[in-house]
Amino acid sequence: MTYDSDNIFARILRGEIACEKISEDEYYLAFHDRYPKAPVHVLIIPKGPYLDAFDFHHRASSLEIVGFYKGLNAVIEKLQISEGYRLIANSGHHGGQEVPHYHVHLLAGRKLEKSIV
Ligand code: AMP
Repeated sequence: MTYDSDNIFARILRGEIACEKISEDEYYLAFHDRYPKAPVHVLIIPKGPYLDAFDFHHRASSLEIVGFYKGLNAVIEKLQISEGYRLIANSGHHGGQEVPHYHVHLLAGRKLEKSIV
């Protein structure tokens, strides 16, 4: 599968669609999920055109990868979710990914039900 530059997160990155931004830098953008599944439901996405977790870790530069995960940490710190949180990166069809631009869900704000693992 090749990267579709018309996916909704690519359009958010280009400013064509609005988002409820939390923070960003040159490597990442963090914004509230439009259909939150928990009191805190944030999406963190890399700025570059990567399909999923494998594609990002395979093709992105070390600088981009470190920048992205440092950004994710900055979001965790900013949201003050010291009671805990869950990170999810759905990838591909079996992983239940709907938007084909790599993203990490950050869920928090209540005791989350036990997932499959
Ligand atoms: P996934 O199923 O892992 O691909 O997750 C995609 C997520 O994007 C879902 O949780 C959606 O609620 C969320 N989403 C879809 N469109 C938007 C949008 N325009 N702004 C914010 N979140 C969105």
